Amino acid sequence: MEKVELTGMTRAEITDWARENGFPAFRGKQIFEWIHRGADFDGMTNLPKDMREKLKASAVAQPVTVQLHRESALDGTVKFLYALRDGNCVEGVLMQYKYGMSLCISTQVGCRMGCRFCASTLEGRVRDLTAGEMLGEILAANRFLAEQGREARVSHVVLMGSGEPLDNYDQVIRFLHLLREEEGIRISLRNVSLSTCGIVPRMMDLAKENLPVTLCVSLHAPNDEIRRKTMPIANTYGIREILEACRVYIRETGRRVIFEYALVDGVNAGKEHALELAERLRGMQCHVNLIPLNEVKERNLKGVSEDTVRVFMQTLEEKHISVTRRREMGDDIEGACGQLRRTVLQHQEADA
Ligand code: SAH
Repeated sequence: MEKVELTGMTRAEITDWARENGFPAFRGKQIFEWIHRGADFDGMTNLPKDMREKLKASAVAQPVTVQLHRESALDGTVKFLYALRDGNCVEGVLMQYKYGMSLCISTQVGCRMGCRFCASTLEGRVRDLTAGEMLGEILAANRFLAEQGREARVSHVVLMGSGEPLDNYDQVIRFLHLLREEEGIRISLRNVSLSTCGIVPRMMDLAKENLPVTLCVSLHAPNDEIRRKTMPIANTYGIREILEACRVYIRETGRRVIFEYALVDGVNAGKEHALELAERLRGMQCHVNLIPLNEVKERNLKGVSEDTVRVFMQTLEEKHISVTRRREMGDDIEGACGQLRRTVLQHQEADA
């Protein structure tokens, strides 16, 4: 029989499940609390031993484990390769900021969006992650911190690892709700960012969920012609529709939208592109995050010089567009999307 993944269940669902399995309801609540603290069954010390044995036989407490990690000597960023129960793996990145620990998590194994600069999509989508696995990524990072004797725990989450969150909509929404369950991990949705390549109908759906997450949109171009060169999704949804969906999102949630823009040499990084972008974003409650391209060795796209970044940034500032440059973290540990997983998979293949 397939074991139940307890990390994907709400407190009420675990309580019902416990009751159906002949345990008193208060045990369900205890189990839920343990699960959100990252415990495995052996660690659930206030449960009777025979109950723990029964749970072990029928349920999973830790669907995600750290298979390997790399810590940056530059800034302490930790890159995780997470093992899933079916042998698949995904990546996560833990970054320390002044305001807390931020974890970048994956929402799918691989991705089917096909963006030309991205390593996660090179072999397409393998499968969606479950909500329980997404929470499991956070719990595994928290266990890692605890094992290192550190007090800090994940306080901020970005859905920016491998996968397109809005291509796995229902599980992502369930995951977001799990974060604010009573007696659970309690991560405020104000500390959560969701990044999408721009699946317009799902952006509209998200706007109606009444969840205060920050919406990030991978724009990467000032017009559709350029966008189509690197992002296949641009053939389905135009920038005009994307910006319209963003306006709805801003109206519904009161939160500003963040546009991600990776500067690619000879493609989207000229001053004229900055001017065109500024024109399109004029008057919008938004922020632009410039991302220096992480060159992926399987792709022939090139990053840009410091000067190019500076000019692009200044041009936006002069047009009163709020803009920052994403800190480059973990440069020495293959911090870019999908690179560590690929390196490990390739080594495994080479060893086989
Ligand atoms: N599918 C979602 C989230 C995952 S990617 C999305 O498209 O937004 C997270 C961010 O990293 C996106 O903005 C993506 O475009 C960007 N990205 C992917 N590969 C990159 C690379 N090689 N260099 C810089 N940014 C990259």
